[in-house]
Amino acid sequence: MKNVPTRTIKAAGPHEELAEAAHVLRSGGLVAFPTETVYGLGANALDPEAVNKIFRAKGRPADNPLIVHIAEISQVEDLSDDITVPARRVMEAFWPGPLTVVLPKKPGVPGEVTAGLQTVAVRMPDHPVARELIRLAGVPVAAPSANRSGRPSPTTAQHVRNDLEGRIDVIVDGGACRVGLESTVLDLTSEPPVILRPGGITREEIEEVIGPVEIDPALWELHDRGTPKSPGMKYAHYSPKAEVVVVAGDDYGKIFVKVSELILKYRSSDKKVGVLASLETGRGYSADAVYPVGSRANLVTVAQNLFYGLRFLDDEEVDLIIAEGYPEEGIGLAIMNRLRKAAGNNVIYV
Ligand code: AMP
Ligand code: MG
Repeated sequence: MKNVPTRTIKAAGPHEELAEAAHVLRSGGLVAFPTETVYGLGANALDPEAVNKIFRAKGRPADNPLIVHIAEISQVEDLSDDITVPARRVMEAFWPGPLTVVLPKKPGVPGEVTAGLQTVAVRMPDHPVARELIRLAGVPVAAPSANRSGRPSPTTAQHVRNDLEGRIDVIVDGGACRVGLESTVLDLTSEPPVILRPGGITREEIEEVIGPVEIDPALWELHDRGTPKSPGMKYAHYSPKAEVVVVAGDDYGKIFVKVSELILKYRSSDKKVGVLASLETGRGYSADAVYPVGSRANLVTVAQNLFYGLRFLDDEEVDLIIAEGYPEEGIGLAIMNRLRKAAGNNVIYV
């Protein structure tokens, strides 16, 4: 891939700059922009050539479909003409916000966006810069997370630069992302609806609006109570350069003891060890680097800092990252999903 001069613009800067970024989108270029979840890498969703550039810049497998971002609820009609009552209800309840809905697609939505599926994933982000950019572009914007495929999602413009400098046209810098994890993906083409990916909006919140929803059984296939899998067996997702192991369980006192034991063990074999810890336990670890993600009493902050922490520990050049686990309720479900994938399912339960 040839080198592209990547320009960074400040979202808080002159208005004409955002208009220029919108122009780049309209002309088939790639623009990374902040959303409340993570930074997205946007292209005109109706332009197959532009969409193909996203896959090339990220090194994303062609069979992984993209989420289409819109600025107003009414734009969903341009993408799907089969919007059921439950679909309408969740959009009204959670948009703008970190919920993606999967709907039957209209013929005009390019197969490049949906990876050949007859459905399209749509979201209206709750970030003023994202929405203004999409509005100015005047087209729906296909945007996966703005990282090289397989890496942790970016939650700052610097993360995007580290991964995609020279491969995309513009980065709009809007500061750090509020949610820190990707959107919840809810498939509304089946009855009951199915959560394909846990994220910023919880199962509990969705069920309050439309009643019972299921969780894609594929998510549970990642569970493996008991012995950890071989460290080399990685899912290529959210992965830092370092090897990752998650220590999970109901009692965080036990988690603390196990993590401390692992730190000792690996440091004595000359490995540089980093810990992704909660505030409750972080100070007690004598590792090479400790990144406190947030309090167990407020998992929203843990979610917010999770990818940041993984990238931070990578920059510290540790060989091993030991991550504490969290209860799998509410946003904890999404946190554990990302950690499990980052660890290639290398989870120790205590
Ligand atoms: P990313 O934006 O990189 O976080 O990835 C987008 C996520 O949405 C991936 O997990 C996709 O598999 C999922 N997705 C996008 N479009 C569809 C669709 N039509 N049906 C099911 N999942 C989808
Ligand atoms: Mg992604």
